[in-house]
Amino acid sequence: MSEPAPAGCDICVVGGGIVGLAAARELQRRHPGASVVVLERGERIASHQTGHSSGVIHSGIYYEPGSLKARLCVEGSARLYGYCGERGIPARRSGKVVVATEERELPHLDELERRGLANGVPGLRRIGAADLRDLEPHAAAVAALHSPNTGVVDFAAVAAALADDLRSGAGRIVTRCGVSALEPKADRIELIHARGRIDADRVVLCAGPWADRLAVAAGADPDPRVVPFRGAYLRLRPDRAGLVRSSIYPVPDPELPFLGMHLTRVATGEVLLGPTALLVGARDAYRLRRILPRDLLESLAWPGTRRMMRRFWRTGLVEIRHAVSRRSFVAACRRYVPELRPADVEGSGYSGVRAQAVGRDGSLIDDFVISQTERAVHVRNAPSPAATSSLALAELIADRVDALG
Ligand SMILES: Cc1cc2nc3c(=O)[nH]c(=O)nc-3n(C[C@H](O)[C@H](O)[C@H](O)COP(=O)(O)OP(=O)(O)OC[C@H]3O[C@@H](n4cnc5c(N)ncnc54)[C@H](O)[C@@H]3O)c2cc1C
Repeated sequence: MSEPAPAGCDICVVGGGIVGLAAARELQRRHPGASVVVLERGERIASHQTGHSSGVIHSGIYYEPGSLKARLCVEGSARLYGYCGERGIPARRSGKVVVATEERELPHLDELERRGLANGVPGLRRIGAADLRDLEPHAAAVAALHSPNTGVVDFAAVAAALADDLRSGAGRIVTRCGVSALEPKADRIELIHARGRIDADRVVLCAGPWADRLAVAAGADPDPRVVPFRGAYLRLRPDRAGLVRSSIYPVPDPELPFLGMHLTRVATGEVLLGPTALLVGARDAYRLRRILPRDLLESLAWPGTRRMMRRFWRTGLVEIRHAVSRRSFVAACRRYVPELRPADVEGSGYSGVRAQAVGRDGSLIDDFVISQTERAVHVRNAPSPAATSSLALAELIADRVDALG
C-alpha cells in the first residue's frame, strides 16, 4: 500500500513518469526546505510511456536547430550519461547508424547531418560503405550517418533512481492517487484526487498521455489535444540477433518525423524492431483492441484529428497493415536489413502508446510544449526524446515554477 496523501504541500507534481519525477527531484534540490509531493494515478511509477519506450538515449540529430528538443536532448543526454554513471545504472553508448536506402532520401540525410551538426551532436559524421560494413555488417545503404553518442538504457530504472533521490530528499510519492480536478483558491491551488484533496502553493502537471485533460481542468486552452498512437515492437530471435550490432535507423519522413521503425539492441541485449505508429482508441491501448469510449470520442471530436487523418490517410493505411501483418512489419525493416525474414522474429513483442499533441489545424506538434496557468506549469507535449531530455527538461520546468513567484 502506498503512503497516504498529505493534506497540503508547497509543490505538487502530478504524474510519476520520468518527466514528473525528474521535475520533482530538481525542485526538491533547489528548495530543500520545501515539501514536494508527487501524485501518481497508477499503482506504480513509470508505468506508461516511460516504461514502454525504445530505451534509446538520443543524441539530438533530428530536431530543428534552436528548438527546445534540440537543446534539451543534447544537454539531457550528457546529463543522463553522467547520472547513470553516478547511480550505477547501465547506460551503453552503443552508437547508431541512420541509413538512406534510396537516392531520393539523400537530401533528407543531408538535412539531418546539417541539423545534427548545428545542434552540436557529439561525434556525428557521414560514413562510407566500408565504415558501415564495420559498424553494421548486415545493413544496406546508399549513404549513412553515424552517431557514436547514441546509447541505450532502461528508462524505468532511471525513473526509479530519481524517485529514490526524491524520497531521500524528503519528497513524497503517493501512488493510486489520480487527480481529477484543480481549483484555484486565493493564494493556493487545491487538487481533488482519488483519496481526497491536497492544497498546494504551486503545481506541475506532467500527465503524459492525459496532459491535455488536466490542463483544460486547470483552465488552459484545449489546443493542442493529445492523440494516442500505439507503437508495437517485435523481437529478433536470439539466434538471429547478430543481424544488428547496435542500432539501425531509417531516414525519417520530414513531414512525419516520429514515424520509422528502427532495429535496436536494447539495454537487455535483445534486438527490438519497431515501433509502429497507429492511431488507437485508448490512451493506454497496450492491447490493440482496447478502446475507451471517452478517449476515442475525444480524439475523433477534435477538429485537428480529422484534419490530420485527411492529410495522412495513406500513411494510416500503411500503419494498419504493419499492425495486423507481421510480414508487412518485417518487410518495412528489410529495406535496411535485407537478410531479415518473418521467421527471424519471435511471436510476441511489446507495445507503448505515444502521447502526441495535435493542434486544432491538424499539425503534429513536434517540439516540447510547456505552458502555464495561475500557480501551475503544464507539460503539454513531451514525446520522444523527453525521456533522454528529462534531466534538462526538469531544469526548464523548475525555472518556470520558480518564475510563477
Ligand atoms: C513507443 C515509445 C517509444 C519511445 N522511445 C523513446 C526513446 O527511445 N527515447 C526517448 O528519449 N523517449 C522515447 N519515448 C518517449 C518517452 O517515453 C516519453 O517522452 C517520456 O516517457 C514522457 O515521460 P512523462 O513522464 O511525460 O510521461 P509518462 O511516462 O506517460 O508518465 C505520465 C504519468 O502521469 C500519470 N497520470 C496521468 N494522469 C494522471 C492524473 N490525472 N493523476 C495522477 N497521475 C496521472 C500516468 O499514470 C503516468 O504515470 C518513447 C515513447 C513511446 C510511447
